[in-house]
Amino acid sequence: MIKCSELKPGMVPCWEPAWKGRFEFELQDLAAFVGDTLLIDEELLAEGVLRLEFDWRLSDGRIFSLQAAFPDTFPFVRPQVALRGDPSTFPAKHCSPADGTLCLLGRDTGLWSAEWTLATLLERQLENALNGTGPEDPQGEPMEVWWNHLALDFTRFVDGSYMLVDSAWDLEDAAGGSLRLTYLMEKVGEGISFRGAVDEIKDEDGIVLATRSFPLPRELQASSKNATFPWRRVDRFAPPPREKWLDGNESLREKIDFNERPIDNSSPSISLSVTVQSTELSAGAKGDTYLFPLFFGPAKSFRPAKRGQRVSNPSLVIVPTHRAGEGDIGSRVPSVSILRNKTVAVFGMGAIGAPVAIELARNGCRQLVVVDHDVVEPGNSIRWPLGATAWGVRKTAAIKQHVEAEYPWTSVEGVQHFVGMPSASGGEGDSSVLPPIIAKADLVIDATASSGISRLLAEFCKKAAKPLISVFGTSSLKGGIVAYYHPTSGCPTCREFAYDRRLIDKPPGSGESSGLRQPPGCSELTFTGASFDLQELSLESLRLEVDVLSRPEDFEQSVIHTLALHDGFRRRPPSWRIDELDCAPECGCNQ
Ligand SMILES: [Zn+2]
Repeated sequence: MIKCSELKPGMVPCWEPAWKGRFEFELQDLAAFVGDTLLIDEELLAEGVLRLEFDWRLSDGRIFSLQAAFPDTFPFVRPQVALRGDPSTFPAKHCSPADGTLCLLGRDTGLWSAEWTLATLLERQLENALNGTGPEDPQGEPMEVWWNHLALDFTRFVDGSYMLVDSAWDLEDAAGGSLRLTYLMEKVGEGISFRGAVDEIKDEDGIVLATRSFPLPRELQASSKNATFPWRRVDRFAPPPREKWLDGNESLREKIDFNERPIDNSSPSISLSVTVQSTELSAGAKGDTYLFPLFFGPAKSFRPAKRGQRVSNPSLVIVPTHRAGEGDIGSRVPSVSILRNKTVAVFGMGAIGAPVAIELARNGCRQLVVVDHDVVEPGNSIRWPLGATAWGVRKTAAIKQHVEAEYPWTSVEGVQHFVGMPSASGGEGDSSVLPPIIAKADLVIDATASSGISRLLAEFCKKAAKPLISVFGTSSLKGGIVAYYHPTSGCPTCREFAYDRRLIDKPPGSGESSGLRQPPGCSELTFTGASFDLQELSLESLRLEVDVLSRPEDFEQSVIHTLALHDGFRRRPPSWRIDELDCAPECGCNQ
């Protein structure tokens, strides 16, 4: 480290040429606060990187030793400031327990201004961060954040490892006990991939404190093992600094290695000693966090060495803790929580229906019934959510496979059926197949893009008193509609009457056939619209689906949302119109 006065000409950070004079200005501005405690890392500076060390005095007289590292994209982004010294003195909030890095501006880099200097940043933010005062960063800092970050540094860690827990679990004041896991492990080179979920936690007397209610990811359901390991409650337990990791650190060893019964009938043998500590889950909310240090190696590495024998120690990785409870996943988007106990039937797994099904699953829908007769092909996958991995697969099967793998809380019933076709045998026609599907659905989606099928589905839904949302684009895709049909209000035929009587405007491009062409091998004219324009329709239908399910009392009348993507001359940004749809007297659908 050198003082400012020892800087030689040409020793500048890499961002100086683009911001002439900024380096000198930064140093002068900072020196005005920290005087000659300011030191510069000359070895890093020779590589164009600026790192400073200095002492900063707070208004109450306390002095903190700090280090500041400037990113090579400074001053577009801010310098990172870290506390130096004994980690046990670091504040509990706004500070990484592992390396002292301070959280001075929340996590939003937008709060930093390129006109600020490091001294400006410290003057404005440091005192609040160290004292835990001032406007709070609303995000909590559960302790596993720091451990999970550290986990990536272990050489034998394999990407994709995790252990799932639920924030809703409350172990009260229990001091320890046993914890049962479902897990799947795989050796990857020298490393270990370890995926698991906690199934049950008991206290020392064997009383069950917590039980898993969230679904397992599919790999864990399919081929996994169960084992029980001990857990203990500890006081605040933060990752130690890297140089103190394990070597001769007995208090650390005691906390992460107290299991006396490794699982030694597997390859590799493994041992877990789980620590539980109280932590901040979100701003102001306390809960428990779990640390899963996994020892693994050949069985003999877990046995005490015999005299004269040299045995290698087991290897260690930290299995990152992730929260997969219903509240953990749903809490990010409370508005869609209504989907969690709903069944939605989607007719037509084409360019609109398939994205709708996937989006419903992503947002927590409990059950989907998907109906289609078609197969994914290279040609139609340009308008489909999945590509080459699904070629040759029936669309219903491809959606079931994809959704159940990605969103384990959703189950999919795929129905291979061609709505509107004469059946080859009795019992396979629409009048046999459709009613049971509609009966179990809370909401029916018509994405068949066929006006005849829309009318047919509306008829079935009316009889079963089920709401129907019908989505289609005009053939030129200059527009489209998302129609909500209440069983006792206007129907698709009423909509045609409303167009005839000019009560509602048709979507742009209605009646044009310029958007249709017949590709080789396709028996019908198909549509030339692009997937991203069709998604405009599927997205609006999703918003309407959530509204209808959340607030049925506001949707006792049919309503037509009409999309315009074109003004007759040129494309324009999407715009929507809303029209209520009454029963047309000529239709007679509700008499
Ligand atoms: Zn009608």
